[in-house]
Amino acid sequence: MRRYWDDTTVYSQPSVAELKERARESVRRAGNKGKSFDPVKCTTKRGAVCESWWGQAWCNNLEQYADYASRLDRGKGYVRSGAVIDLQITDGHVMAKVQGRRRTPYKVEIRIGRLTEENCQKIIDRCTSRIESLETLVRGEFPEELKDIFTEEGGLFPNPREISFNCSCPDWAMMCKHVAAVMYGIGIRFDENPFYFFNLRGIDPDRFIGVALENSVEKMLKNADVKTDRIINDADMTELFGVL
Ligand SMILES: [Zn+2]
Repeated sequence: MRRYWDDTTVYSQPSVAELKERARESVRRAGNKGKSFDPVKCTTKRGAVCESWWGQAWCNNLEQYADYASRLDRGKGYVRSGAVIDLQITDGHVMAKVQGRRRTPYKVEIRIGRLTEENCQKIIDRCTSRIESLETLVRGEFPEELKDIFTEEGGLFPNPREISFNCSCPDWAMMCKHVAAVMYGIGIRFDENPFYFFNLRGIDPDRFIGVALENSVEKMLKNADVKTDRIINDADMTELFGVL
């Protein structure tokens, strides 16, 4: 006799080859409708999905939250298979399409809380004292000396309370594998352009760097003033003691 609650039912998981084929088909169909998708391409074969230290730091940060642990591995497999066929990052908002079992890709939406004005200013102050780091940042790389601005409390990395997500699949898990795949996809986008970190936290990177550079120059000029004062004082001393 067949039981209504049949706990032996297992959903078949698509193989990597099937997933790739379906993903290709979905991108082609979107193209036929005049939409252009921006697929996430994972370049690493095993281990970390990201290459840059900042992309890897994003993934490590994600993995340390036990709430998400169950689906992260599956998500990693998905992003490696090219299942994230579109991913767009705008201010505090990520929209993505992930190919799954179904023919139609799932829609994933992730919202990240804005960095508060106070925390943003704190990060600018930290950068101001390191002009070389700012130059590295302007070149599109995250300087390693600024590593701590990510991980410290109130830094660029959002904590789980600042992340909300939604997927159109029927999985009721806290975080489904499609959302997990998109989370890794965000890390790969960071590899390509670290300024997405700022966009994701609702900060305009050009303005951020502009303000930090201005403050650096102001600070340098102030230091130069201090030196000039000292020289004048030395001259006064010479005059005072009649030393030639
Ligand atoms: Zn899902």
